[in-house]
Amino acid sequence: MTNIEDSLKELEDEARKCLRCRLSTTRTTVVFGEGSSAADIMFIGEGPGKQEDLTGRPFVGRAGELLTRIIEKGMGIPREDVYIANIVKCRPTVDLKFTRDRPPEADEVKACTPFLLRQIEIVCPRVIVTLGSPSTKFILQTSTGITRMRGRWGRFMGIPVMPTYHPSYLLRNGGEKSPLRKDVWEDIKKVLDRLEMPISAK
Ligand code: SF4
Repeated sequence: MTNIEDSLKELEDEARKCLRCRLSTTRTTVVFGEGSSAADIMFIGEGPGKQEDLTGRPFVGRAGELLTRIIEKGMGIPREDVYIANIVKCRPTVDLKFTRDRPPEADEVKACTPFLLRQIEIVCPRVIVTLGSPSTKFILQTSTGITRMRGRWGRFMGIPVMPTYHPSYLLRNGGEKSPLRKDVWEDIKKVLDRLEMPISAK
């Protein structure tokens, strides 16, 4: 293990025991994040959903499958070569029956994001892609929604940030046939261009 992998492992061990916010009382698993510790690109979503909570892995439900297709087919990069995390590590739901997910509350984001900040510091990606409003608002410290923020470069901790739509938003708006796909593809092309990576397929 490299020093970077050791640091990530230590942080993950700490997160797995975390009781800093109310989400610790309802989670099945802490979803720390996964991917290459040497990743050029870090994707940041809002929080784990049902499948993620059950498996302990980020973006493995339907939205995760779509994100994986964007990464592997659209960008031409194996998923394991990027790093994927969320702003909160435990699943936020609307009620104790776990019927529906919800965006994390401000106090949950405040309690959890020290983990994310450390992940960014350790992995030190060349580009961050924020997925959806909550992660974009936190990373770029803005109150502007994703529709206006997407496709415009920002910067966080000295790292270029590209906001785009969350895959679950695409799924709710037509899925594979969503008209928003072309917006996401435009955003992704900007990322590939910045990293001087070849643009493979749509
Ligand atoms: S969401 Fe974050 S701060 Fe809250 S209990 Fe889980 S790991 Fe801790």
